[in-house]
Amino acid sequence: MSIPKLPLYLDNASTTKVDKRVLEEMLPYFTDLFGNASSNHSYGKIAKDAIEKARSQVADLINANTKEIIFTSGATEAINLGIKGFTEANSHKGNHIITVKTEHKAVLATCEYLESKGFEVTYLDVDNNGLISLEQLRNSVTESTILFVIMYVNNEIGIIQPIKEIGEIAQEYGISFFCDATQAVGKVKVDIEKDNIDMLCLSGHKLNGPKGIGALYKRQGVEIIPLIHGGGQEKGLRGGTYNTPLIVGLGKASEVAKIEFDSNVTNLIKKRHELETYYESNNIGYVNFKEANRAPHIISVTLIGFEAEQYLMMKSKEFVASTGSACNSEIVELSHVLKALKMKNTKNILRLSF
Ligand SMILES: *Cc1c(COP(=O)(O)O)cnc(C)c1O
Repeated sequence: MSIPKLPLYLDNASTTKVDKRVLEEMLPYFTDLFGNASSNHSYGKIAKDAIEKARSQVADLINANTKEIIFTSGATEAINLGIKGFTEANSHKGNHIITVKTEHKAVLATCEYLESKGFEVTYLDVDNNGLISLEQLRNSVTESTILFVIMYVNNEIGIIQPIKEIGEIAQEYGISFFCDATQAVGKVKVDIEKDNIDMLCLSGHKLNGPKGIGALYKRQGVEIIPLIHGGGQEKGLRGGTYNTPLIVGLGKASEVAKIEFDSNVTNLIKKRHELETYYESNNIGYVNFKEANRAPHIISVTLIGFEAEQYLMMKSKEFVASTGSACNSEIVELSHVLKALKMKNTKNILRLSF
């Protein structure tokens, strides 16, 4: 297939390119090493070993134990498995969940579903930097609170929630803490021990790995019920024949992200500085959340005198990026994140991610 000449890609919060080293690692498992990891022969053993290696590579990225990683089809499935699985298994302890208005749609839609099943959900507000108030979090805890669901890095604006402090509050009250770290891994140091995280999700395609693969980290002793019942894979928590090539790809992407963390972050900060300087010194727009604690790969710019959609159309041969949230881009409505932030000139807001 001939590849068309494409503009510069500044939309890495939507998805990323598979790293060549990741692809190379995956390829043999599509062809010669195609065995079913559950088979009791040499073909199966090779696949099984590759999966266990990948499991330890993913675990290492977040300082987890290998036994605590469950492979899923992506972050969305890990969010569904973590939140629905946990609340169903623990409903005898309480029926209240606390989350945030600016979470990813996968979290919000899962919580709304649980509301229809009789759970109570508190949606925390955010301040004008997108941060929750720890005071409001504490005040929202009730006798029936069993779970906090709070993301690490916001996918639209890049701000970092005070995860360590949230983990401490969760521990203090004996509440479990689910953290969507899909945009955080590889960009900020994620450590489930330091941060007191009980469950966490991540995704291959946000990490220069393949699409259709992700993982749920679940601390040992945290009880969940599976969404997908089947042949007992993943200790009965996620049935279905192992997708060895994609799992191997997620493992390799996690390994590369860990080894190259420092140089990646240095490069991203340099790139961010260049882009911010370009927009501000040419008076094209101003950068939002500059004073907040931000991940290095996402910037939010409010354009001066242009709607973001119009601007991107104009620039479409030079580069691509997003307005609001890419996941909502088929529906023309104001992003729920920008709405919760009560920002001005929302139509002029551009997300650049690199
Ligand atoms: C992309 C993304 C998801 C969904 O991940 P998939 O693997 O595509 O299902 C969830 N949360 C955040 C923060 C994301 O950026």
